[in-house]
Amino acid sequence: MGIFQQRGIHVVHNKHTSKIKPVRIETCGEVTLMMKQHIGTPCEPLVKAGDEIRLGQVIGDTQAGLAAPIHASVSGKVKRIEQIRILTGEDVKAVVIASDGQMTPLDGIAPPVIKTRDDFFAAIRASGLVGLGGAGFPAHAKLKSACGDVDVLLVNAAECEPYITADHRETLDAGDDVLEGIAQIAHYLGIHKAIVGIESNKGDAIGKFRALCAAVSTPELKITTAVLPSRYPQGAEKMFIYSLTKRIVPLGKLPSSIGALVMNVASVAFLARYIKTGKPLVSRTVTVDGGAVQSPINVRTPIGIQVRELIDFCGLQDVRPKKIIMGGPMMGAATPDLNAVISKCNNAVLLFDDKQTQKRPETACIRCGNCVAGCPMKLLPLKLEAAYRANDTAALTRLDAMGCMECGSCSYVCPASHELVQCIRLGKRLLREAQSREGSKT
Ligand code: SF4
Ligand code: SF4
Repeated sequence: MGIFQQRGIHVVHNKHTSKIKPVRIETCGEVTLMMKQHIGTPCEPLVKAGDEIRLGQVIGDTQAGLAAPIHASVSGKVKRIEQIRILTGEDVKAVVIASDGQMTPLDGIAPPVIKTRDDFFAAIRASGLVGLGGAGFPAHAKLKSACGDVDVLLVNAAECEPYITADHRETLDAGDDVLEGIAQIAHYLGIHKAIVGIESNKGDAIGKFRALCAAVSTPELKITTAVLPSRYPQGAEKMFIYSLTKRIVPLGKLPSSIGALVMNVASVAFLARYIKTGKPLVSRTVTVDGGAVQSPINVRTPIGIQVRELIDFCGLQDVRPKKIIMGGPMMGAATPDLNAVISKCNNAVLLFDDKQTQKRPETACIRCGNCVAGCPMKLLPLKLEAAYRANDTAALTRLDAMGCMECGSCSYVCPASHELVQCIRLGKRLLREAQSREGSKT
């Protein structure tokens, strides 16, 4: 039996906003554009306080290969360059722009001229695209790494985390862009097969994509829709690949090592729009939901908007949010602060009330095995927790802590309320620190 078969857990979906078309936030008071909104090297600001800025202007970039430029998401004036702490705990530079409310675009924005595969990669880099499903991997680097090795493009429209419907809306509202994006990627990478994977709880998207795929498939490019069981974390890259192809990505390797390229559905749709218009990545769809929100909705918002402004737009119930989560409830990160900003990778902001944050106190492990049964990576979360608490790096290594994808399933199903994923995350940090100490000795 494959590693992921019958694994994962059932979660309450709470997809309240899937029937609601995203509402566009035309502009906002100011934006804070972090210089690191991707996996890789942070950008450096290319502007200074007082500079006049146009929408779509590049305001941060780097020569490093694993990075993507940052573009202004409003027109206006740079207020300041500041250092801010992001949710991973890193300190990064950020450019704060006061909007003039005009959203005046940069002169000369036009579709990129693409004649060769290298032109294609250069255009995708210039667009600022990173994985919009939350991973934030620079798209040009991912596409380049897939060159020559890949025989199937897997488009991830699973969206398995509760509450979030941003990708679901993309499948419903921008199906043609998704198919155009698939055709572009397939053309430049020489791929002849693509599969759009959608969880079974999105019947409308499945129906739409079956019809669209049947209409555009050709002998040179066969595009199909696959229906995946609604089991969390179905959208996690390794589980997604296994569900669609029965291939297993070895630890520490990229999907291209087993012939697969995975792209998030919103990323693919954006790629097609960029090639048509030349408009870089300056806005995204974000699900705003939770018990403290008056009307849960999807918003199309400028990147860099503060949570505070989003809340003003969506309205709160007569309660202050007890907990603010950037992302989904399983893999998102809690923020203490309404000044937190939306980055390219944020697909949701959840504002939970008192009721939604009540948690039973932690009690002794009852050896029920739920965490083991629910782990898609076949790990032993209870033993990993013990290894972390004992500071035992040898046990963490033996138990394959680095194989944990931090999906949170083990914590979710634990009747004793153990903070398993938090412990494993910290255990992985211990291992990384131990490895870097070893490296500095040699
Ligand atoms: S151990 Fe890691 S991969 Fe396994 S369920 Fe827990 S968080 Fe998910
Ligand atoms: S789910 Fe919780 S109680 Fe059950 S074995 Fe795992 S750690 Fe123990």
